[in-house]
Amino acid sequence: MNSWKHEPASRRAAILQKWHDLLVAHTEDLAGILTAEQGKPLTEARAEVAYGADYVRWFAGEALRIDGEILQAPSPDKRVIVLKQPVGLCAAITPWNFPIAMVTRKVAPALAAGCAMVVKPAPQTPFSCLAIAELALRAGLPSGLFSVVTGEASVIGPVLSTHPLVRKLSFTGSTKVGKLLIAQASGTVKKVTMELGGNAPFVVFEDADLEAAVTGLMVSKFRASGQTCICANRILVHESIRERFTNLLKHAVSELRVGPGTQESITQGPLIDRAALNKVEHLVSDAVAKGARVLLGGRPHPLGGTFYEPTILDGCTPAMELWHEEIFGPVVALYEFSTEEEAVAMANDTRVGLASYVYTSDMRRFWRVGEALEYGMVGVNTGAISNAAAPFGGIKESGYGREGSSHGIDDYLTLKYLCLGGIG
Ligand code: ADP
Repeated sequence: MNSWKHEPASRRAAILQKWHDLLVAHTEDLAGILTAEQGKPLTEARAEVAYGADYVRWFAGEALRIDGEILQAPSPDKRVIVLKQPVGLCAAITPWNFPIAMVTRKVAPALAAGCAMVVKPAPQTPFSCLAIAELALRAGLPSGLFSVVTGEASVIGPVLSTHPLVRKLSFTGSTKVGKLLIAQASGTVKKVTMELGGNAPFVVFEDADLEAAVTGLMVSKFRASGQTCICANRILVHESIRERFTNLLKHAVSELRVGPGTQESITQGPLIDRAALNKVEHLVSDAVAKGARVLLGGRPHPLGGTFYEPTILDGCTPAMELWHEEIFGPVVALYEFSTEEEAVAMANDTRVGLASYVYTSDMRRFWRVGEALEYGMVGVNTGAISNAAAPFGGIKESGYGREGSSHGIDDYLTLKYLCLGGIG
């Protein structure tokens, strides 16, 4: 590990770039593994390989720009220098919904910064992580710098979160486990990055391009069968356009094709496991019991297993559990509002603050609402907000730290200040 941090940045960057190239060259193999263990359709799996590889390419570039500073000195005999140094050994605990991209966006900045990383992937999806670690070795990464530990979270988790040698812990997953890890990591005062749950509002104003809004909602809501932390969870639609919007949406949702992700025509794979299916069933029956109307779907899919029908629920209200809970399934919950103030208040009525979405064609409203939303990310007239150049992350109980962008490497670095005296 010590020799890695002393390698010239250009060498670290070259290895990362080679790793990127191998990931892209093995897209079909990696997508096959991903679909087999995660269930998402092959088209989405291929897109995840590209998205995950992009973080590696991005941080290959950032490795070259870890520059320090020389500051204004307080007196003529002094000089003030700031160095950026690798934080040390890092650990990552990653989820099953993006088994490649959630790993690369932690490992790539760690390696770029000169750190080593131990990853514990989700038990549902360990194979994608093992495959990309093998490709990192083939790219020339010295062994021991990117290690993968598979197995029981309750056994491995506490070791990673309490071991004194681990100086930084990066976690993507539920708010519940995130809070536990923050508490465990406090014992050794580790640097911590937390990407936790969301409850994304998707606000459609009366001046929006409705067809574009439906297209954006389909992208945001149905990716990975609704199992991402930035999936639209609460769809807030202005009362004057509700009917037109709902009709367009029904048409789009009825075109989705549910089935095994290995078949090319499929757009919706299964949910990850039985617990996920049970949760979606529970949230839908709670909403229906409290007055929601099922416009489409509303049941497990006739295919059986953990497939669930793409669903639209109309007439939802904040009294329903899915107002506060992440659905993590292919269920559109529609709510109605009358004024901009009401929409913003509804959108912010949650303890988490990861992604949010707004559709409007009014520039003044874009500024007002964009600034008022209490979220780390706001998609305006788009349902696709993730990319390696952007700072991904949340506020409130969605966590802290940012992944991607030029900020994404900061959590893997520490600042050291050198004060030189007696210069004369
Ligand atoms: P989800 O409900 O989406 O599976 P989790 O937060 O439970 O989200 O899981 C995300 C990651 O956290 C997975 O890698 C999982 O194995 C891990 N994990 C779950 N429980 C713990 C724990 N107690 N300590 C450490 N890691 C955990």
